[in-house]
Amino acid sequence: MTFSEISQFVPLIAAGAYLVLFVIAYSRREQHEVQTRWLLVFLGVSIAWQMAIYLAPRLGVAAIDVAGKLLLVGTVALGITTSLYLDRPHVRRWLIAGAVGISAAILAELFLPPVEISFGAFSSSYAELTSSLIWLGFSAAIFLSTYREYRRTRFPWHANRVLYWAIALFVTFLGEALLHLNWSGLTLLGQVIRFIGACALTYAVSSHRLFDVSTRSRRALSFILVTGISAVPIIVGFFIIYNLDNFISNTVLLWTLYGIIVLLSLFLYDQFRGSVERGLSRLLFGDTVNPNTVVRHYTRAIANTLDMQQLSLAIINALSELLRINRGALLLVTNREEDVHVEVVPALGRVPLDALDLLNDDLLITELRNQHQPLLQYEIDFNPHFAILPAERRQWFSEMGMDVYVPIISNDRLEGIIAVGPKRTGATFQRGELDLLQVLADQTGVALRNARLYGELGEQNDKIRELNGDLIGQNARLEIMDQVKTDFITIASHELRTPLTQVKGYADILTVMNDESNLSQEQAREIMGYINRATGQLEQVITALLDASQLDVEGMKLTYIETTLDTVIRMATEPLRPALRERRITLETLGLAELPPIFADFQRMVQAFNNIIGNAVKYTPDHGTISVSAEVQTSAESPVDYLEITIADTGIGIDPRFHDLIFEKFFRVGSTELHSTGSTKFKGAGPGLGLPIAKGVIEGHHGRIWVESSGEDEARLPGSQFHIVLPIDPREIVKQDSAPQQTPEASAESLVALQAD
Ligand code: ADP
Repeated sequence: MTFSEISQFVPLIAAGAYLVLFVIAYSRREQHEVQTRWLLVFLGVSIAWQMAIYLAPRLGVAAIDVAGKLLLVGTVALGITTSLYLDRPHVRRWLIAGAVGISAAILAELFLPPVEISFGAFSSSYAELTSSLIWLGFSAAIFLSTYREYRRTRFPWHANRVLYWAIALFVTFLGEALLHLNWSGLTLLGQVIRFIGACALTYAVSSHRLFDVSTRSRRALSFILVTGISAVPIIVGFFIIYNLDNFISNTVLLWTLYGIIVLLSLFLYDQFRGSVERGLSRLLFGDTVNPNTVVRHYTRAIANTLDMQQLSLAIINALSELLRINRGALLLVTNREEDVHVEVVPALGRVPLDALDLLNDDLLITELRNQHQPLLQYEIDFNPHFAILPAERRQWFSEMGMDVYVPIISNDRLEGIIAVGPKRTGATFQRGELDLLQVLADQTGVALRNARLYGELGEQNDKIRELNGDLIGQNARLEIMDQVKTDFITIASHELRTPLTQVKGYADILTVMNDESNLSQEQAREIMGYINRATGQLEQVITALLDASQLDVEGMKLTYIETTLDTVIRMATEPLRPALRERRITLETLGLAELPPIFADFQRMVQAFNNIIGNAVKYTPDHGTISVSAEVQTSAESPVDYLEITIADTGIGIDPRFHDLIFEKFFRVGSTELHSTGSTKFKGAGPGLGLPIAKGVIEGHHGRIWVESSGEDEARLPGSQFHIVLPIDPREIVKQDSAPQQTPEASAESLVALQAD
């Protein structure tokens, strides 16, 4: 059989070879489903294309060149596979471009004149030329998009994947280009090259583990150069031996020289080759490091660091010097009962700080712990084993922008992860480097545990200090309350005794005068009046005491009616009018008339405001001012509207230490000696029940009360501002509070009960 006879069967053999590739790709299709499907289309069309080439001369001339069109279809399928492989799926765009291109090629074949045009040694018809140009356009687009992606990719292993694909594409297109040239010698070569390209493409799609293209090619280059250069002395030696007899006729001398040359070559060749190898490897791969020295330096750098941030910096700085990385962080892993908490301690470059909470049996955590080996970001992205990772976890890792995650394991627990970013050179991490990284991470375990214990100790210390502070505060408060209790007996007995003494005194006078029968009616009325006032005072104190005790036992029973704040304030200030007049204190009200009506227990509300405004009168010197202002507060978060009421005076003010305490029962600022009974006298303190009752009433209405004052100063008179926030309709709050637990009937019932109260 002649060569041309054999070459007739080449397309048939090629179709068989593509069929084998098809079967391989099909059997591994679970990996990257969609792109494998399109690769299968490409391989399937390749089989059809080869069959068309084989059958065309046997079936006679067809109207259109089927094989040429099938090649175009295959190229379009390859374009789609590429866009999917690069994770930029443009399936629709490729389908449209393919349909347009192939139709154009068919139309060109049907309608362009069948004239041959020649360019030097090549000749082709217009239709063939159109088809070739369309193929060239498609191939260039595929190749350029791959190249662009390669330039764009940040991670070396990711870039390697794209580079590998680009090379596989290049080989495939080179083969196709040779087939296009249609030179008999080149056709076979073209077939072989295209098949090699298709093999590489199939391998890339069906296996995520690709070799490091640039390192492999540098190694191959290095091998060729070393072998080439080290062969030079041997060639020179041969040349000399070959030509030596032309110059030297003495046979003994000649053979001695031969011997010397051979011996020199034998002894020196190895050394020469060794130094060429070292020189070239430094040139191509850079300086190599001594792992022992690295481990020693590293351990020293991190040994004495107790602060977590410092430790992270020390680790990453050491690694950055060693591997010239551009970012890095320490990920602290805390194994909690219910989950695993991952916290980022940044060290180099801009690293996002969001913590991550993972399940105890999370795939990544178990993988790092069990494998005890660095994990590449590339593996997370492309290894089908990690395909089940949820999207947001992938996002977290991709935002970290790291290249390798090295587990720090101690006592079989994952304690931390050293996250190492890509190298500044853009080179990939080699096996040796990854092993070295793991050795270094293993050295880090103890330092990490120490830093963690130290941190926890610091935290405990802070907590104890805080608790101590709290305890001191509570203690001071307890001491004050203790004093309040003691004072209460003094105050209460004083409050009760003063009017009681008066009653008794007047009753005695009444008896004596009556006995002596010189009690006029006028005198009797006057004395009765005094007794009445004293009993009134007694009644007031006892009511206040009862009210206050009610606060503890059952809270206040409130009956809501519709009223206005204006009326409440007017009623509350009515009894204070004489004192205000007498002491020339101005009482201003602001904005009360415009307020909407409120729902409140009228009497209780009047009592509360009477207490608060009464205090303002008592603690404001003569000629002072008291102002009552209020406005409506609406907020999007709360469906209920509130009134914010401020009662400000120009009085002596309140020491901030007592801002909470004044709302406690029986608490009064200052000592009991200064006590002077009087409801309106300047500094005429009462039993210390006014504000607790007011607070009880306001909180009973689901409101809040607090005071603001810069301090107590009788000379400067900083004044106090009492703030009250009061719901316009407290029943709404009651309804809302009970709504989730109660049936509508039940909540209506509680509303009725409230109203009945
Ligand atoms: P009292 O019956 O003694 O007035 P309160 O409970 O009404 O008791 O008030 C407690 C303490 O709060 C008062 O003894 C007083 O020292 C302080 N106080 C209340 N209101 C004012 C105010 N407007 N200005 C200054 N001090 C005030």
